[in-house]
Formats: sequence, C-alpha cells, structure tokens
Amino acid sequence: MRFESKQQLSGAVRMWSINHNREFRVIESKSNTWFAKCKSSIERTPSTSSYPPCDWCVRAVKKKTHGMWQITKWVNDHNCLGDMIRNNNTSLTASVISRHILRSIEDDPGLKVKNILSFVKENLKVDVSYKKAWYARRTMVEWSHHSDSLDRIKTFKYVFWAFGPAIEAFHMCRPVICVDGTHLRGEYKGKLLVAVTQDANNKILPISYAIVDEETISSWSWFMEQLRYNVALDRHPICVIPSAVWRHESSSALTRSRG
Ligand SMILES: [Zn+2]
Repeated sequence: MRFESKQQLSGAVRMWSINHNREFRVIESKSNTWFAKCKSSIERTPSTSSYPPCDWCVRAVKKKTHGMWQITKWVNDHNCLGDMIRNNNTSLTASVISRHILRSIEDDPGLKVKNILSFVKENLKVDVSYKKAWYARRTMVEWSHHSDSLDRIKTFKYVFWAFGPAIEAFHMCRPVICVDGTHLRGEYKGKLLVAVTQDANNKILPISYAIVDEETISSWSWFMEQLRYNVALDRHPICVIPSAVWRHESSSALTRSRG
C-alpha cells in the first residue's frame, strides 16, 4: 500500500491496530523510513518473557520514484498473547478519538464525555479512560462567518480558539481574567483578542484567543460569549479586567490580589 505522508501511514497502522486489538511501538521514524513492531516484543513482561517475541512488524519507505510512502515489509501475524487489551488501547490517542467525534461535536458542541465513551466503545470496541475522552473534546474552535458566505466558500468574520489543557488550568487558578486586543501586523490585517489569567506563581497563563476584524462592541461581545461558553463553563462569579485597566494597572491590581 502507498500513502501520501508518514502521518497517513502511521494513522492507517494505528487504526488497523485498534481494529485488531493490538498495540505497536515505533522503532524508527526518519525522513524516508518508518518501522514499527508489536509492543509485546519490545516491552517484555514476566508473563510474556517465556514466549518467543512476537513477529508482527511493518516497514515503509518513502520511494524516490513516486515520492509516496510504501509498505515494503508486513508481517501480518501476531503470535503474542495480546488479545486482552480492550481497556484503554494506547494506539487510540485523544487526537485519534477527536477525529472520530468531530462530526458529533459539530452537531452538538455540548456533547458529554460519557457519550464519547459510549461512542468509542460502540464504534471502536475499546474502553478508554474518562480523561482521554475529555481531552479529545477539549480544543475548542468557534467560527463566525459573514452572512454573505456561500455554502462552498465561507468567509470568516471571527474565529475563537482555546486549548484543552489551558481551559483545565484556568479552573485551578483564581477567577480573574484579563482581556486585551492588539493589532496584527502581518500580511493579513485584523485584531487579536486574548484572555489571560495568572497561576498560583503569578505567572501569566494565556487561556483563549480570537482573530476579529476590528475591536468593536460586536466582536468583543462575541469573544466574551465564547469565553463564557467554552472556557468559564459553570464557573462564576469571574472578575474580568478589561484592557485599559489591565494596561495601566496590571501590576498593582494583580499584586493586590496575591494570596
Ligand atoms: Zn504481537
């Protein structure tokens, strides 16, 4: 088989392993070769060490002739005792899960973690941990499109994003958010809106971002709405310090609240 990229290749091996209820380890990953073996042949445990190592492996190389990744060696049979890893298969990472649930999340952004768990169990036949399922749904991106966008060509007006670990971290920090906007000075003009908080060491923790056309009541309202819906969740009350105060009094305002 041939693949357009190494990522596609490893993704296919990953899905194969999930479907066959096996785990693998990447032994070699270079610019033109990729080699993986059965996990059991690498990580020998007392219960498996008395058996011969598993033969399963796959090797692929990036062929100069067509520039694609081609599988050059494939040992199909696992002769290991790896048939009982239904629980939390390491091949099934949070990002693999996120690709599977993307459609459902688009239909229902409030999709619950427990629904993801049952979806994964039903479709991929694997039990995953709550934490992994939680991470899978936790990089939020919201788009707002111009009303004159066509079905096929959408022109975005605002975009908002927040990373899962930052959202989680905010819930461990004091309920104070500082928001500010700045000019984008690159090829594409626009404004970057940012929300930050401070952690227990008084270090700045960025929690969410948006790119908007201008700093207007409309764009700021939209940003705050996304912040409430995707980051603050059920946490309230929260103190929001707007940009003007933040710029002029940030050091004094926040040192006063220390401790
Ligand atoms: Zn094996």
